[in-house]
Amino acid sequence: MTGLEPHQLSLNTATLREQWDLAQCIEGCARHGFGGISPWRDKLQEMGVTRAAKAIRDTGLGVSGLCRGGWFTASGAVDRAVLDDNRRAVDEAAEIGAECLVMVVGGLSTGSRDLPAAWALVEEGLAATLDYGREVGMKIAIEPLHPMYAANRACVNTMRHALDICDRLGPGIGCAVDVYHVWWDPDLAEQITRAGRDRIMAFHLCDWLVPTRDMLTDRGMMGDGVIDIPRLRGMVEAEGFSGLNEVEIFSALDWWRRDPDDVMRTIIQRGRNVC
Ligand code: ZN
Repeated sequence: MTGLEPHQLSLNTATLREQWDLAQCIEGCARHGFGGISPWRDKLQEMGVTRAAKAIRDTGLGVSGLCRGGWFTASGAVDRAVLDDNRRAVDEAAEIGAECLVMVVGGLSTGSRDLPAAWALVEEGLAATLDYGREVGMKIAIEPLHPMYAANRACVNTMRHALDICDRLGPGIGCAVDVYHVWWDPDLAEQITRAGRDRIMAFHLCDWLVPTRDMLTDRGMMGDGVIDIPRLRGMVEAEGFSGLNEVEIFSALDWWRRDPDDVMRTIIQRGRNVC
């Protein structure tokens, strides 16, 4: 398997969230020859959705996703406010021409120990958001998160669970496969095959560092950790995935402190050599 060229890469803006605003990320992606970008909603709203959409169009960048919708569980009910916010996220994703809206579904409700109840809320919220996504033609991508986030970020933690939900909800919903969250799963190959081309909606790259010093903000640059990225990339590409390879590195101790152009150059170099 050959490495990734810059036009196959997308920058998830979380990777440079401490250094660049969205306008700078768009300009930087274009200047470094990246194929696309994947904004977070805070950066998108800060720039203004219409202005960002135009800037992205003007550069010709693809948009591998919008991060993120979801968070259905916090209050213990799927209320109007959370559904409205997810509808807005769908609209924003459509306006910037995103491939999909990435869903971080939410963990346990505040003060709760009832995991099955959280799963039910998630499915209810996803179903409602999917209905709207179908109306406007926006795909909904569940991102299963590593189980260490089950309590506070996402109670869908495996591809199997995500695909069980997708099976129940029908067309228009699939998965964002992030190597950081799924690399450890002995069931992964089987579940990626089960997902198939239509339900692999995004592919996110970083690496798992040993040791990991922080549960949220210590992801590694590709090649600095233990994930066999070419093997995982081979799995999704064997199913026909041909979308952008989105680089998403939360790194308070390292990459968020570096010169952003050096980070971009390092991503390109690692894309070519270790992915
Ligand atoms: Zn991700």
